[in-house]
Amino acid sequence: MTVDTALTRAEQLIELEERYGAHNYHPLPVVIDRARGVYMWDVDGKRYYDFLSAYSAVNQGHCHQLIVDVMKKQAEKLTLTSRAFHNSVLGEYEKYITEYFGYDKVLPMNTGVEAVETAIKLARRWGYEVKGIKDKKAKIIVPENNFHGRTLLAISASTDPSSYKGFGPFVPNFVHVLYNDLKALSAALEDKDVCGFMVEPIQGEAGVVVPDEHYLAKAKYLCEKAGVLFIADEVQTGLGRTGKMLACDWEEVRPDILILGKALSGGTLPVSAVLCDDPIMTLIKPGEHGSTYGGNPLACKVAMAALQIIKDENLVYNAFYLGKYFRNELEKIKHPLIKEIRGKGLLNAIVLKTNDENCGGDLCLKFAEHGLLAKPTHHYIIRLSPPLCISKEQIDDCIEIIKKSFKEFK
Ligand code: PLP
Repeated sequence: MTVDTALTRAEQLIELEERYGAHNYHPLPVVIDRARGVYMWDVDGKRYYDFLSAYSAVNQGHCHQLIVDVMKKQAEKLTLTSRAFHNSVLGEYEKYITEYFGYDKVLPMNTGVEAVETAIKLARRWGYEVKGIKDKKAKIIVPENNFHGRTLLAISASTDPSSYKGFGPFVPNFVHVLYNDLKALSAALEDKDVCGFMVEPIQGEAGVVVPDEHYLAKAKYLCEKAGVLFIADEVQTGLGRTGKMLACDWEEVRPDILILGKALSGGTLPVSAVLCDDPIMTLIKPGEHGSTYGGNPLACKVAMAALQIIKDENLVYNAFYLGKYFRNELEKIKHPLIKEIRGKGLLNAIVLKTNDENCGGDLCLKFAEHGLLAKPTHHYIIRLSPPLCISKEQIDDCIEIIKKSFKEFK
């Protein structure tokens, strides 16, 4: 391989990705080499605050020592057996996570989208075997502008052309309703073939869209009345991110099926989980669902450590308290570009008043120049979601960076 020595090391590394990798992402031109807590360092040693947290996977902070230690220890002992055999960690983890969230059973998977697929399979199976829906007729209601990942099932549920265009045919029987519209949900629930309503308690990828107060509680009530499962995709909103352990906790809603991922490993491995009670989970029998890596002992140990850290380090309270403070301080920035500040806990967004397709990206470049990394979702919404271990002093520092960036931004 020839290397263009006129390029900086960062440019060389970016060129390698451009040349040999699929162009399915559009990253900021920053090459991260290491990270710790709320900080990341690029290959030139420049330090940044991480205000994306790998889309909320790094709630516990980068390379948390406890997770790293647990990983190292387990990696020396046993990493994978597949589920063809029992392993000495799985049962301990299953007991731990089900007690942690108060469900009868868990089904361990790896990525968030696999957990979404699992939840939909469970809901359909329940629809046929318990609700009595005729074979192949089961429907799932999903709000518009949802995001549940990138598999064919998840994009079949999507209303965003950049997710689904050119990838059909799709998985049938998703019914779309407006997000935050209880009338639309109520009407859709009249269809007796509906087995589930799958919802993000806050729509993360859509731009941190927070529904009205009581939306989730009323939606849950409507689902119960209609005999439909309420499925919460908390892959992004769960595990302390919004200032409660689950975003559904804000309205004391207990989902029938709970989907978790991302921060379940604190950003170290793909670990996801589906939780529900016996009347649903026991409908899946041996050989009907699984994954080679799902429930592997390394992931189980990591997930227990990741969950324990959230409790031991009061990350939920930190997200609640500092989130409020952060939004308050952002509200004080008076700039003609800022249309709205919104969010809950440490899942927040600045909505920009602009038609310029590059505006969000350019502003993020300005943030990066001053040492803060964030990424726009759509061109006019900037999500701000630091690791939940951030301190008040660090938040203050970041507010100064954001202020300075807006001031200098043309
Ligand atoms: N569900 C939600 C709400 C998400 O935000 C995401 C990812 O951003 C997913 C599912 C998919 O998770 P993964 O990328 O781990 O498959």
